[in-house]
Amino acid sequence: MPRRLIDARFSSEDDHFHDECGVFGVFRNAGASALTALGLHALQHRGQEAAGIVSCDRGSFRIERHMGLVGDNFTSQDVIARLRGDCAIGHNRYSTTGEPALHNVQPLFAETAMGGFAVAHNGNITNARKVREALRSSGSIFQSTSDTEVLIHLLATSAKATFIERFVDAIRQLEGAFALVAMTAQMMIGCRDALGIRPLVIGDYEGSFVFASETCALDIIGARFVRDVEPGELVIVSDRGLESLRPFPDRPDRFCVFEYVYFARPDSTVGGRNVYDVRKAIGRELAREAPALADVVVPVPDSGTPAAIGFAEGSNLPFDLGIIRNHYVGRTFIEPSDQIRHMGVKLKHNANRNILAGKRVALVDDSIVRGTTSLKIVEMVREAGAAEVHMRIASPPTTDSCFYGVDTPEKSKLIAARMSVEELARYIRVDSLAYLSIDGLYRAAGADGRDAVAPRYCDACFTGEYPTPLTDREMHEPHAQLSFLEKA
Ligand code: SF4
Repeated sequence: MPRRLIDARFSSEDDHFHDECGVFGVFRNAGASALTALGLHALQHRGQEAAGIVSCDRGSFRIERHMGLVGDNFTSQDVIARLRGDCAIGHNRYSTTGEPALHNVQPLFAETAMGGFAVAHNGNITNARKVREALRSSGSIFQSTSDTEVLIHLLATSAKATFIERFVDAIRQLEGAFALVAMTAQMMIGCRDALGIRPLVIGDYEGSFVFASETCALDIIGARFVRDVEPGELVIVSDRGLESLRPFPDRPDRFCVFEYVYFARPDSTVGGRNVYDVRKAIGRELAREAPALADVVVPVPDSGTPAAIGFAEGSNLPFDLGIIRNHYVGRTFIEPSDQIRHMGVKLKHNANRNILAGKRVALVDDSIVRGTTSLKIVEMVREAGAAEVHMRIASPPTTDSCFYGVDTPEKSKLIAARMSVEELARYIRVDSLAYLSIDGLYRAAGADGRDAVAPRYCDACFTGEYPTPLTDREMHEPHAQLSFLEKA
């Protein structure tokens, strides 16, 4: 029988929505490329497939793009020395659109009639295929299959006079989610889509402007947080300082609520809220909505940990590390024999028997996607002697796919779209299972609950209500049942 290969970093045993991408940029600092490498390292959780940096040295651009981790590709003096210049932008990629290949690694770069232009994108353009087909039929030749490349072609073919007018003309034709950091020889641009679905912040490092997906990337270089790039805002930094444009009609924000549940690092502040605080508040809400008769609260580490701390606080139960995570993953293993059960999950997690044996365990995880990991984790906890297992999930059931730059399975593979909570509890073999309500999630994230007419966040993976048109999806899968509710 062929032996199974398990990649500890990317295997289906890791049953989460996969993070999207991280972007970073430094304008006018002698150490721009080294700072960008550090910033990308802090954003590694947003994408581990590939990383790239483009620098600008008095109008001359240098490009380094590699498959793999930042730490494996951007730590040598040689690489940083090649990336000369006092401006740089960088990107961590987890492919959501376009296959995982070097030609899709960002930042993308092109020589346009207006000079060199580099761009790094977090998000997903939901009409990219339609725009691409139109551009192709009028003669454009594409170098990649990345959705981001349409922006470059729209910019290059725009009839507007100035670079900024062309940039605005281009982004107005895009639908979906985009947090962009772009660079020319004269300026750096940070820009968010009209709804601000993905995060982007501005920092100050010794007088130099910095853009980053999350504040943890400012912290690593010692930069000061200045403010968010606002939803629908285009921020231009140049030798004249910072200018702000509002190229889109004003609409209420729809920041991705899953950033608070799972994507963003807990030490970051995104959308004006500290992620760790929101996750603990989620746990307290969950304890209020769905208390468990348990002896100990145990997180599924690492992503379930802050919510489990909040759950323990909210239910006055002890918190303990009943599952230990091995952080030294990153290799592909050959499963040595069928006798080693659940090897995939055990590469990352192991039960801490002393904590679990004989106890009624409230097990807290951030979400259930396919259900594969939950099933195995619960079995591991039971094998370690737990008397009862009560699973508590720190988000509502994940019933719909994300089309805004997060790698998610098809709806049919999302277990909560196929099973009721009771069925799922039987499937993963827990004594009880409860999810946080959507109102509870909104309360934890600072709202009064979900306003059904004008929800404050994007929550489409929990509600199926998409805040933008899904043009490509509707064109190519017209029978897919998707609802775009333009309530905003
Ligand atoms: Fe975030 Fe879910 Fe909306 Fe995607 S669908 S942007 S993961 S809330």
